[in-house]
Amino acid sequence: MSERTIAAIATPLGEASIGVIRISGEDAFIIADKIFKGVSGKKIAEIDGYTALFGEVQNDDGRIDEAVALKFVSPKSYTGENVVEISVHGGTLMVKETLRAVLKSGAVLAAPGEFTKRAFLNGKLDLVKAESVMGLIKARSLSELKISRSVHGGATSKQLEAIEKNIVSAAASIAAYCDYPEEDLGEINEDTFIKELTAVSNSLKKMLNEYDAGKILREGIETVIIGRPNVGKSTLMNLLSGQTRSIVTDVAGTTRDIIEDTVMLGDVPLNLADTAGIRESADVVEKVGVDLARQKLSNSQLVLAVFDASDKPSRKDIELLEECKDKPLIVILNKCDKNCKYTEAFSKDIETVKMSAKSGEGIEALRDAVARVTRTEQLSPDSAILVSERQRQLAENALVSIDEAIYGIKSGVTPDAVGVCVDQALNSLYELTGKRVTETVTEEIFSKFCVGK
Ligand code: GDP
Ligand code: MG
Repeated sequence: MSERTIAAIATPLGEASIGVIRISGEDAFIIADKIFKGVSGKKIAEIDGYTALFGEVQNDDGRIDEAVALKFVSPKSYTGENVVEISVHGGTLMVKETLRAVLKSGAVLAAPGEFTKRAFLNGKLDLVKAESVMGLIKARSLSELKISRSVHGGATSKQLEAIEKNIVSAAASIAAYCDYPEEDLGEINEDTFIKELTAVSNSLKKMLNEYDAGKILREGIETVIIGRPNVGKSTLMNLLSGQTRSIVTDVAGTTRDIIEDTVMLGDVPLNLADTAGIRESADVVEKVGVDLARQKLSNSQLVLAVFDASDKPSRKDIELLEECKDKPLIVILNKCDKNCKYTEAFSKDIETVKMSAKSGEGIEALRDAVARVTRTEQLSPDSAILVSERQRQLAENALVSIDEAIYGIKSGVTPDAVGVCVDQALNSLYELTGKRVTETVTEEIFSKFCVGK
């Protein structure tokens, strides 16, 4: 606790019922007492922790505002340090003036994320949990919130701890063997060793496999609606967005510009783009629209390819399917409220949904298909999800090292060399959870936070 006491505004600036100024550090109580006068005459330094004092904040010119001060005592606080939270009325000036008075009394302005950084440095939470804090704050969808909550609650950390325990045990047996080869420790039991490391490898693989699905739930997936003219793409767009985003007519070539919207389908945020119908056209404007549609298709991560199932499948349908086949794909056989001529899917390997964009029938099947194709259905609230590219990269490094160790043992490499791989895996894991991490890395992580968090 040798660091300076910091302070920042913890709530957004603007008209609000209250605004909170947070002070954290060894001198938090002394500093708060310089600007806060309790009506009872009591000082913050004297009262019990986790109690509140009513009074007013003052500066050299006199009263700033009526206020409530709440006291947290180290180590039982967000940062692990002494903390005072002062609530005043939520006007921008009131809050700023209070902060100014606090800074004048000896605190320094907190850097972005410095409260959470101190919490991390004081062992209140590991780096994985710390990185989920911004997810909690920034969540735009319930699914994103669920993931951040679960990571913040420790689901990922717990899994990483289990992995770490297994690696440590493997590292210990290798080290014993290398350090005392003359002792009769027996041969390293290769089978047990390989079994242990394979379990680690599988856990890491599972986490890495689920990374993309977690990312989709957090950030959404770039989804393009594609199809020939008049098959019902814009009707589908409007159905999914719950409003008239695209113009629907029975005139082929109505949609030309790309129409975009972000919609939730089940748990999955779709960053949707409705496009011009794919066909040869002499119309210059429509041609540009078709080019844009193809461009959007090539940049998308998920394709909803719409076909008019009330019409017979044609060569052009097959050609269109060919254009989409390299992408995660869902075929939509639309207009199923009419007499359907497509009796079955083009291929049983392609996820296919029969629906009516007009009536909404079949939308649940589309929701389930999206969950399957994006593999988001595999995720449960207690899944051990990695929530940043940094975490993914380190988990991958650990996996590579573990697989090298397994390969090394199987191919008779010296225990020393196997030990190096196991140690490398452990280091990657330590960096991931923050047990062993450089100042530069922590700086980088917390600099993305907002001031006051
Ligand atoms: P787009 O060119 O692919 O965007 O197709 P639109 O969404 O503009 O629809 C073309 C025509 O098909 C319009 O007259 C729609 O009302 C009609 N349509 C779209 N979806 C359905 C459906 O599921 N059932 C029926 N019966 N008609 C539909
Ligand atoms: Mg359209």
